Amino acid sequence: MSEPTLHKPLPTLTDQTRPFWTAAKEGRLVLQKCQRCATFNFHPKPWCIECGARELQWTDARPTGTVYSHTVSRTVAMNYPGWEADLPVVLCLIDLDDGARLYAQLTDCRPEDVRVGMRVGVHFEAISEDAGIPKFHPL
Ligand SMILES: [Zn+2]
Repeated sequence: MSEPTLHKPLPTLTDQTRPFWTAAKEGRLVLQKCQRCATFNFHPKPWCIECGARELQWTDARPTGTVYSHTVSRTVAMNYPGWEADLPVVLCLIDLDDGARLYAQLTDCRPEDVRVGMRVGVHFEAISEDAGIPKFHPL
């Protein structure tokens, strides 16, 4: 009898997304910044979401933001039992102080304590040899 595989989904690293994941592994939050209009872009794209310019440069973003919205996950998809030990999981849309919006897990916060407008800071979890993932915690 085999044990169930306790795994979580891993991101697919492409030429377009690799800098984000590898920087997170190193404990840095980097986003594409438009060299024409200075907009920070997320998710990674070949063009600026604001002005369409293709001159984007990976840039360190400020590690702070504000909760825009949130939800609490109390169940896991059957394919990913590796999440069960983390439940309940608080998931947020975070408006970074540099302007981009990320979807990320909020840690160190009980589900009943998360609030829209809550100030949060980033920290990182290594998830593979090549990648880390940004998570947030209340400030
Ligand atoms: Zn732009």
